Amino acid sequence: MLRGGLPVALPTETVYGLAADALSPEASAHIFEAKERPLSDPLIVHLPSIDWLSRIAVPSPLAITLAETFWPGPLTLVLPRQASIPDIVTAGQDTVAIRMSAHPVFQEVVQTFGKPLAAPSANRFGRISPTSAAHVMSELEGRIGLILDGGPCIHGIESTIIHVLEDRLQVLRPGPITEAELRAFAPVFYGPAGVTAPGGLKSHYAPRTKLVIEQKPRPRGPRTGLLSWSQSGEGFSQTEFLSRSNDLREAAANLYGSMRRLDEAGLDLIIAEGLPESGIGAAIMERLRKAAA
Ligand code: AMP
Ligand code: MG
Repeated sequence: MLRGGLPVALPTETVYGLAADALSPEASAHIFEAKERPLSDPLIVHLPSIDWLSRIAVPSPLAITLAETFWPGPLTLVLPRQASIPDIVTAGQDTVAIRMSAHPVFQEVVQTFGKPLAAPSANRFGRISPTSAAHVMSELEGRIGLILDGGPCIHGIESTIIHVLEDRLQVLRPGPITEAELRAFAPVFYGPAGVTAPGGLKSHYAPRTKLVIEQKPRPRGPRTGLLSWSQSGEGFSQTEFLSRSNDLREAAANLYGSMRRLDEAGLDLIIAEGLPESGIGAAIMERLRKAAA
């Protein structure tokens, strides 16, 4: 199923995760859809081995020391990203959150798969994180095709998330790895997660070009771009099609890349066509509103 681009619920030592191919935007879009997670909330990427660290991130010596010390284990590092990670996984940010799970079942799956897995908690957005296969069933039954039961989770709370700065560590989410453990490596402070977790910000990844949302877009002036869901693009100087087959998952997977290309086109205005707010469409629209804010 993972090789086919589908999500699978897997046990980790913290909570159950909903995992999918982290290098595929379409596979990762399934996670957002099943969880009803806003596209502004980035996913944590789980590595098969530490060798992958510098293939998807740009780790400083401090970050490498932390990884070698705490991995596999419940510590997530927020680091500058490489281009190999799709925008949908990082919510369009220039950082990526990474960890390596210590759970033997998760490890066996991710190593056999041979590539990183994106895996946020396997609950519907905003609900309590699942610590057993039965919890996942009650959260996501009918939305996903497979839950791998590895027994109850050891930690039962989510990983510690730290933003690794040049010489300090910013705790974005407290967790099983404690402040005292981290302080052995660098000074620790608690910053507002809003600085790097865009979910809490009103405006995020707004293109530099002005963007408005319209249900029936019409070009205004010669340098108007269109982010299209169903329109032909006639009369617009540049059009990006979110999905030619009217597939909302495909639209979600294409959203950030399409917006980026329009933003780089030297336009006066980008008009985003309103999408149906069903399924993942609501998340896409929420994201577009942030871009327009
Ligand atoms: P979950 O896996 O559902 O517990 O959620 C993952 C958490 O990691 C969310 O709170 C995200 O905001 C946070 N996160 C993931 N990637 C980043 C990032 N690049 N910067 C800051 N926070 C992140
Ligand atoms: Mg969660």
